[in-house]
Formats: sequence, C-alpha cells, structure tokens
Amino acid sequence: MTNNLQATTTLSNGVKMPWFGLGVFKVEEGPELVNAVKFAIKQGYRSIDTAAIYGNEEGVGQAIREAINEFGITREELFITSKVWNSDLGYESTLKAYENSLAKLGLDYLDLFLIHWPVEGKYKDAWRALETLYKAGRVKAIGVSNFQVHHLEDVLKDAEIKPMVNQVEYHPRLTQAEVKAFCDNNGIQFEAWSPLMQGQLFDHPLLKDLANKYNKSVAQVILRWDLQNGVVTIPKSTKEQRIIENSSIFDFELKAEDLDQISSLNENHRVGPNPDNIDF
Ligand code: NAD
Repeated sequence: MTNNLQATTTLSNGVKMPWFGLGVFKVEEGPELVNAVKFAIKQGYRSIDTAAIYGNEEGVGQAIREAINEFGITREELFITSKVWNSDLGYESTLKAYENSLAKLGLDYLDLFLIHWPVEGKYKDAWRALETLYKAGRVKAIGVSNFQVHHLEDVLKDAEIKPMVNQVEYHPRLTQAEVKAFCDNNGIQFEAWSPLMQGQLFDHPLLKDLANKYNKSVAQVILRWDLQNGVVTIPKSTKEQRIIENSSIFDFELKAEDLDQISSLNENHRVGPNPDNIDF
C-alpha cells in the first residue's frame, strides 16, 4: 500500500488521499512559504495542508499555480486541504468561509475541507454546511479535526454524510487509541497533526536507537510508524533538506515489535490544546 510518496488511501466516498503531505502551520506569507510548497511538489509531494487561520492560503495558492505552470503537473494530481476557523462555524458563515478560502487559494475546489475545532453548539451547523458543499459537488471530501469520540458520535447521529477524515494531534507520546479505534471502525480516515511533536522527540533515546538500527533519522522512523499504523501524516518543514528527509520513508519497514515499542511511549501528552477544553 504505502510504497511511494504518492501512495494514497481511499476515503469512504472513494476519493484518493495521499498518505503523506506537507503541513504549513506557522509559515507566514512570503517567499519562504511559496518556495517550500513548490519545492515539496517538485520533490513529489502531492498533498498540502493549510487552514484559514494560518493566514497563508494566498501564498499556498501562488505556489500551486507556479508549480502547475513550471513542473507540468495538473490540479487534479494535487490534494489540497483547508479548514474553517472557529469564528466562522455556523451554516451560512461556514458556506461563506469556504468561498473565502477558495478565493484566497485561487482554486475552484478543495480536495478536503475540515471543521478545525469542535466548538460546542456550533460544529453541527457547520457540518450541515459541509454536507451542502459536498452534495453540490463543490468539494471532493469533507471531514473534521480535533474531534473526540463523543463529538464524532454527536455528528454521526444526524449526519447525512459521514466525515471522511478526522485530523488530530498524534505522535509517539499521544497515540489517541480510543479516537483512532473509533475512526478505524467507522470508516473515518485518521490523520496526524504535529506528527513530530513540533520537534520535541528528536532526543528520545529509544527513537534514536531505532533510527540507528534502521539507518534512518528519528523523524523518518516516526513518520514511517504513522504510515504502518494506517495514519495519514503531514509533517511541516520549510527547509529543503528536511522536506526531502521527511518524505524518504518509503524504502524501509519497521518490524512489528518496533512499532509496538514506539506506541508504548504514549503518555497522553499533548503539545496542542485539549479539544474538550478550548477557549478560542
Ligand atoms: P510537526 O510535528 O510537523 O513539527 C514541525 C517542526 O519540526 C518544525 O518546527 C520543523 O522545523 C521541525 N522539523 C520538521 N522536520 C524535521 C526534521 N526532519 N528534522 C528536524 N526537525 C524537523 O508540527 P506541526 O507543524 O505543528 O504539525 C504539522 C502540520 O499539521 C501543520 O503544519 C499543520 O498543517 C497541521 N496542524 C493541524 C492542527 C489542527 O488543529 N488541525 C494543529 C497543528 C498542526
């Protein structure tokens, strides 16, 4: 399945989503952003993960247009994700947020549009808006982010269309067993954000040992563990060397006991907010 950079998982509606992509959280508009996205696409990345709140959709769009013109790839080969921010959750406001994201990106459709956070009392109206967009053929796939099991159950209760993806914080110190099992059992593709724990795992002794054993870097071992666990992963880097390094994970395989050892590092430790306790 996951044997090359453009390998895909098939979402519940048949849409193919790359297992691997580039995240652009905290990358500001400007040449660093445009160059990183273009470089990644040139190296074979096909999936880019942005969000309205990142404030960089225009630069991502510029990079996509330039990559299409310069590298001879087509829009259809790319998989572009964005997310509706909390202040835009609601039926009409989410519809409008989608148009805003498209306008900034300069695209006429997204491959995946996500509800960024499960704001109580708001996310179900937003889900209806995503269903409307999906049924009108405006977006290839729809999903959620940072949803716990109870949020997913709540949405599924009334949903006409099931979320196709749930993007959550996931790395060796936060393996989210319950959310992952629920997603796996309900045909919701599980996707990792901050897969490298924002750079806080590189000195871990076990991960360093495994990196030596496989002659790979710690980042590559972690990202390979994602893939072998059936998790879509979108590490962020703007550095060319790391963009290459992070994607060079299709030429080795972790043994089952090593996958288990990595998973046993779980401490339910978050670097980001707890979705049950958000105040933004
Ligand atoms: P990450 O775990 O991808 O870590 C990124 C950090 O690690 C960067 O500072 C980078 O410099 C460093 N790094 C990357 N590759 C490296 C390498 N090979 N060697 C050494 N250092 C390396 O963190 P992230 O950016 O928070 O998460 C990835 C993506 O997930 C984001 O860019 C964004 O697209 C998405 N995200 C989504 C949410 C959400 O709420 N849905 C939240 C956070 C992030």
